[in-house]
Amino acid sequence: MAEPAKPQILLAEEAIARCRTLAGFSENSTGLTRTFLSPPMHACHQAISKWMQSLEMLVETDAIGNLRGVYPGLSERRLIIGSHIDTVPNAGAFDGALGVMIGLALVDGLARQRLPFEIEVIAFSEEEGVRFAKPFLGSLALVGGLNLEGAMAQAVRDFGLDPERIDEAKLDASRVIGYVEFHIEQGPVLEEVDLPLAVVAAIAGQSRFAVTFTGAANHAGTTPMRMRRDALAAAAEWVLAVERTALVTEGLVATVGSIEALPNAGNVIAGEARVGLDVRHQADEVRLTAVKQLLDEAAEIGLRRGVGVAWSERLNQATVQMDADLIALAERAVPFKMVSGAGHDAMILAAVVPSVMLFVRSPGGVSHHPDETVRAEDVAAAIGAGLSLLQDLAKRYN
Ligand SMILES: [Zn+2]
Repeated sequence: MAEPAKPQILLAEEAIARCRTLAGFSENSTGLTRTFLSPPMHACHQAISKWMQSLEMLVETDAIGNLRGVYPGLSERRLIIGSHIDTVPNAGAFDGALGVMIGLALVDGLARQRLPFEIEVIAFSEEEGVRFAKPFLGSLALVGGLNLEGAMAQAVRDFGLDPERIDEAKLDASRVIGYVEFHIEQGPVLEEVDLPLAVVAAIAGQSRFAVTFTGAANHAGTTPMRMRRDALAAAAEWVLAVERTALVTEGLVATVGSIEALPNAGNVIAGEARVGLDVRHQADEVRLTAVKQLLDEAAEIGLRRGVGVAWSERLNQATVQMDADLIALAERAVPFKMVSGAGHDAMILAAVVPSVMLFVRSPGGVSHHPDETVRAEDVAAAIGAGLSLLQDLAKRYN
């Protein structure tokens, strides 16, 4: 039976308070670190289960440790709302957790109204890839893309779950009408345009490369400047070239975020420099063209300086488009679209079910840091947009 709906600002404040509560469940006492199936995940599950049960949701934990609560509907159809509850080391309270808490706020906001579909809120056990250097474990299990073995299977057993039951975590995609993920933006775009929310149109494709410059290590005092094959100077020249190319290519972000010089001594010309390249763009063609240009430039710099250049590809992930129909529905409440530069669970789910994301403004653009925060008004706006989306979908499936 319907009951008076709570004001959206109260739902938002509660969602925020709950994120803060969850942030107290940490592997250490100095900040928030909660990796895949680590001991504090038990307390986290307990708290979320209690909140789900108070909303008349049926709660289960699947074999990869996703906590899943189903709010009954008037048919077998199902809408999924989810995000992750694992964190990076020394994390903020809202990356991932906010999406799950907004899911619960939406169910709460229905005030016991039943829709023509069930709502499943999923707290994914793993997205960040910290514990096993492999991200998206939780959502991969839903699309049947996860092989549970070795240390990972042991972690599942240690948590009290049965890795043999991993197939039961898989979605019955024929029943699922969509996947909606709310997430903090983790960047400065919404701050700059002064808006609380964005609809995510696509998740940008990524290329990652390891690039090695090989010169000749030698004495920093006795080797004349013109007779050097300085690997670090060659790498440095290329780092700036990468930045220049990205600056003049609309929408491209290219980063050299790591560099290692060998032997890394102040009085030795570097014989080798190893750098990591990360390139992202919403159009795969633009990204791949930029990557080719950047690698050509590296080769040209090496040739000119007598330094060898070699590279190996570490990642070539295509752009994932969100579902056009869900985007159009979400846009009724949120008239601003952007591309996500970061990967999210929606990227995995989009392979099997229509998916869309909504970003909530990140004050200061700060994320993966204890200072990460959100504004209650922005979260209230997200809850408002979510409730409109639910009602629009309800009309469609009535
Ligand atoms: Zn996240």
